[in-house]
Amino acid sequence: MTPRIYLSPPDVGTAERALVADAFDSNWVAPLGPHVDAFERELAERCGTTACAALSSGTAAVHLALLLAGVGRGDEVWCSTFTFSASVNPVCYLSGTPVLVDSDVTTWNMDPDLLEQELEAAARRGRLPKAVVAVDLYGQCADLQRIQAACDRHGVTLIEDAAEALGATAYGRPAGSFGRFGILSFNGNKIITSGGGGALLSNDTDAIARARFFATQARDPAPHYQHSEIGYNYRLSNVLAAIGRGQLSTLEQRVAKRRANFDRYVAGLGDLPGIAFMPEATYGTSTRWLTTLTIDPDAFGATREDVRLALEAQDIESRPLWKPMHLQPVFAGCRVVGGQVSEHLFDWGLCLPSGSSLTAAEQDRVVEVVRGVCRV
Ligand SMILES: *Cc1c(COP(=O)(O)O)cnc(C)c1O
Repeated sequence: MTPRIYLSPPDVGTAERALVADAFDSNWVAPLGPHVDAFERELAERCGTTACAALSSGTAAVHLALLLAGVGRGDEVWCSTFTFSASVNPVCYLSGTPVLVDSDVTTWNMDPDLLEQELEAAARRGRLPKAVVAVDLYGQCADLQRIQAACDRHGVTLIEDAAEALGATAYGRPAGSFGRFGILSFNGNKIITSGGGGALLSNDTDAIARARFFATQARDPAPHYQHSEIGYNYRLSNVLAAIGRGQLSTLEQRVAKRRANFDRYVAGLGDLPGIAFMPEATYGTSTRWLTTLTIDPDAFGATREDVRLALEAQDIESRPLWKPMHLQPVFAGCRVVGGQVSEHLFDWGLCLPSGSSLTAAEQDRVVEVVRGVCRV
């Protein structure tokens, strides 16, 4: 029997094992310790920021970024609608009001023209958002230079959700380094994993110190337990940081492998009618965390769902692109700016198996199944 091919499974090796053994042997089995400190330094260095707080998840990082941006009851936060729910949920933890902004067709990320226009209109109305959360999807940075300029013009805090884009670049800068805060995730399906974890990046060292304070139950400096503010338990375990460090040391190879996966899919499927791969923006390099494509059902002779079910029948995991947040029942009441681009991507889009451990033989199986569904 051939084993199931997963979308983006963890890929761990001996470096991680040795570092975890060190965490055990040194008895630093706690949500602090030398691997946490080292992981924070290494992430900041890799992403080109002065400071970093390692946290229990990417969601926690979004939450603390919004908290430190001053988001509170009734404040608007504008987010990419085409994303995972974790980019938006923390707005609601803080009783803020999400406003959902559509993507453009060239980057699939937040449309900078749409954002500029809407910020102008909001400034005229006298109701600017407290923050903008721009997401870097599937390994590709949003047009962060233009988004940053639009936010700066109106004094709006930018948060870069780079959970899917560690290792990517835009305008010669690393993903995670834009805006006041950058967010990373080390969930099991991301380009590197710690078995669950995340990080908050910033050049504001004081803000990162505040993030650590809130992540450690907002404990005041006193010998006893004293609290003047509401805190959270959001710090990363030293054991998990050890795994993350091992993974981070191989990031370049992981990016190269994921990009090679993409190139092989293009070679194997690019000639089929109706298939279009996610474009790569001219201003940067994508990691191709996931290989994503759209399938025009008329040209291809079958739908995205036909392809997904045919793959599943062969024990191959694939997945539709993100369902836009403005189509989610839980965010049905939210204002949306545009929406057709992301709706179309959701209708036609598919993510193919893209792990860094994917073999050529496995990839050939995927290509063969997809080709078999084409009816033209
Ligand atoms: C994975 C992800 C997150 C959340 O990260 P977790 O570590 O799973 O909490 C946030 N935003 C995006 C875009 C993601 O893909």
